[in-house]
Amino acid sequence: MFKNLTPRQIAIYSGSVTAIIVFLVFLVFNVFNAGITWWNLSLVIIVLVAVSYAVNLFFLKKYIFRKIKLIYKTIHRLKLDPSQKQKNIDSDNQIIEEVEKDVAIWARTQQQEIEQLKTLENYRREFLGNVSHELKTPIFNIQGYVHTLMDGGLHDPSINVKYLDRTAKNVERLITIVDDLETISKLESGNLVLDIRKFDIKDLVKEVFEAHELTAQRRQVELVFKEGASQSFQVKADREYIRQVVDNLILNSIKYGKPNGLTKVGFYDMDKYILVEVADNGIGIGQEHLKHVFDRFYRVDKSRSRDAGGSGLGLSIVKHIIEAHNQTINVRSSPEIGSTFGFTLAKV
Ligand code: ADP
Repeated sequence: MFKNLTPRQIAIYSGSVTAIIVFLVFLVFNVFNAGITWWNLSLVIIVLVAVSYAVNLFFLKKYIFRKIKLIYKTIHRLKLDPSQKQKNIDSDNQIIEEVEKDVAIWARTQQQEIEQLKTLENYRREFLGNVSHELKTPIFNIQGYVHTLMDGGLHDPSINVKYLDRTAKNVERLITIVDDLETISKLESGNLVLDIRKFDIKDLVKEVFEAHELTAQRRQVELVFKEGASQSFQVKADREYIRQVVDNLILNSIKYGKPNGLTKVGFYDMDKYILVEVADNGIGIGQEHLKHVFDRFYRVDKSRSRDAGGSGLGLSIVKHIIEAHNQTINVRSSPEIGSTFGFTLAKV
């Protein structure tokens, strides 16, 4: 009954207690025949109750308001306007309960903020470590080749052209990493502006097939459409970004393919969207790696990826682009059997 009292109730109870005390005093006085009349007593009790109620309410409000103001200032990191000093609190509200609720909400938000900051800090540290690690290898390679050439290798026909060629390759690798880093930072900062238009996804895949024809031939991988892909598949998306996605998936299917391999691209009409699948019969990915392949800098076969000029950022860029379109991407794979990457696009 006395838990959760409002300030007004507290004032009423304390006023009543005063009245009872006065009444008891009167009884004692009457016993000793002091001659106080009932009329006088009622008057005194009414005045006392009213005064006690008013005084109690005033001090309670002042006391509670001071404490609550301090709590609110702390949780909202506020410097209150001096004009708010006299701001009244509602005497009929269960203020303490409300403050308790507000403080609990504040504590929860604080905890979430701390967790978020910790995750961001870890991500930043990890990202910086990965970036410097990625950049170090080509830089040290270039340094080695240049020094050898400067120390006389330049005039040695058995190595000069070879070392210059390797230097150029490492410079290209640096450019790929920096370009991918730039793309990923743009994607992660949320500054991506999509130019959504209608286009035929099959035409786009055809263009990518043509662009990689030579590389595919060199690696003895054939690029084909799956049966059922004869008609056009109109989608709504940013063509250039989707080209990047298709480009990456097809290039990966070649890089991680086997000689005499096959890359098949299929389209499936799924009512509201088109599912695009890029399937290969290459080296495949082990189950333990599958959930990480979209992570930044994650590589299953590190040396194969580096040899093929990969930055380890390709699939994470692909995922960002698809998610920016509010679509999904997934992968199925088995080692030595092959991989299938599937993503959705909004249908026109
Ligand atoms: P990378 O630049 O290393 O190719 P990606 O982000 O494109 O980086 O791919 C991440 C890793 O996933 C690759 O290093 C490779 O190990 C694996 N991977 C990607 N695509 C395939 C595929 N089609 N077949 C087998 N492994 C793949």
